[in-house]
Amino acid sequence: MPQGVIIVSYIAATILFILALRGLSHPETARRGNLYGIIGMTLAIAATVMSDRVSSYVLVVLAMAGGGAVGIYVARKVQMTEMPELVAILHSLVGMAAVLIGFANYLDPTAAFEGAAKTVHEVEIYLGILIGAVTFTGSVVAWGKLCGKISGKPVLLPARHWLNLGLLILAVLLGKWFLNVESIGAGMIPLILMTLIAFAFGVHMVMAIGGADMPVVVSMLNSYSGWAASATGFMLSNDLLIVTGALVGSSGAILSYIMCRAMNRHFLSVIAGGFGTEGGAPAAAAGEQGEVHPIDPDETAEFLENAKNVIIVPGYGMAVAQAQHVVAEIVKTLRDKGVNVRFGIHPVAGRMPGHMNVLLAEAKIPYDIVLEMDEINDDFPETDVAIVIGANDIVNPSAMEDPNSPIAGMPVLEVWKADTCIVLKRSMATGYAGVDNPLFFRENTRMLFGDARESLDKVLGHLKQ
Ligand code: NDP
Repeated sequence: MPQGVIIVSYIAATILFILALRGLSHPETARRGNLYGIIGMTLAIAATVMSDRVSSYVLVVLAMAGGGAVGIYVARKVQMTEMPELVAILHSLVGMAAVLIGFANYLDPTAAFEGAAKTVHEVEIYLGILIGAVTFTGSVVAWGKLCGKISGKPVLLPARHWLNLGLLILAVLLGKWFLNVESIGAGMIPLILMTLIAFAFGVHMVMAIGGADMPVVVSMLNSYSGWAASATGFMLSNDLLIVTGALVGSSGAILSYIMCRAMNRHFLSVIAGGFGTEGGAPAAAAGEQGEVHPIDPDETAEFLENAKNVIIVPGYGMAVAQAQHVVAEIVKTLRDKGVNVRFGIHPVAGRMPGHMNVLLAEAKIPYDIVLEMDEINDDFPETDVAIVIGANDIVNPSAMEDPNSPIAGMPVLEVWKADTCIVLKRSMATGYAGVDNPLFFRENTRMLFGDARESLDKVLGHLKQ
């Protein structure tokens, strides 16, 4: 294919990727955004495959068929609750690809760079492998933490900041060595040593982060995977990969910033680690904190139909119970009865950015009643019933009231300010951050114990009678 056509295809793909990101920023336009992304990626792959840089179509077809088959299988099999783990493990593949391409590029016998061009090329290779290796092991550890194979508790080694600094200095010294060697064979030694250090750094960095800081880790690794792809683009002199990687890298960085702001945390203190503790531990004995007031589905339904204003706060438990469709039916029934029902969405609810918005969109809940935390938090005092569906950390008053709480300072949805707050969960267990929740013992809190979907099915049954 002529070079001009390839360049035009690359520019078109770049524009489509920018439009895709723009579309994905709002639920109403997300579907269109996805479509732009699909068309852009198809165009990018087609133009790359047809360029004169591809010498063996057999290999390309085999790789695409193998990768595509695995992708289709995984995408069909994955549960909505497993999406964050899947995203984390996919980031690790981008990291590993950057490492492998870096080594292949360095060993490429046809590469003939001289002087400054040689140095620039080697810097690209070195940085690409460095970022890729950190992304790879960091993402594998994040995957382990998200799916519970590795403890969510931050592992804080003594003098860990000095250890990180030592690793960084070592990587810089190895880089100097790498740039000063003459033969490829001699260059492999610092390159391999740096790769091992970067692998160790990725593990150490993510192991030290835990509990409620995990959303930032996921978006940060998303950003790293973008920069790794961009570095690969430099190595391969592929402009489209450079731009696409930079788009992913910078949007991931912006997402990390938004997440940090949502958690009221500084990015550097997240990277330094140690916020939140072990997940899923049983809470302190009920008697120590006060009385729990259980409620049944019929009473819940009565509270709801007698209310004028209701705010629903969904959390990770709604995703686990797959309760979004029955929630949608309850919302419709209540709105038909004249009740003003709205949703309050916390930025880190669930296990991935936008998790709740995706579930609510899937259940076709109108977007105009789905509000962000900042938009709705002041309305709780005028609300008759706040109903918390499988959420815990994001409605924990100790974040605001107890300066010693591990999540102190994190903004939360102030559901306890409603006249009545009904919490749906199965037990008194803690949420992801492993922090006890005094909300469950408040005078105006009612606990509807059981699987959220089963409980809400019964509530709906009563409402429809
Ligand atoms: P939490 O993990 O704090 O709480 C979820 C609650 O849902 C649990 O206490 C659990 O209680 C309950 N639950 C689980 N299954 C069911 C079920 N089938 N029916 C009813 N209830 C159920 O979730 P939140 O959404 O409140 O907070 C999100 C947390 O996850 C934050 O700490 C956030 O930092 C972290 N996180 C967020 C990410 C993101 O990007 N959004 C990524 C990684 C972590 P019980 O077991 O008693 O039923």
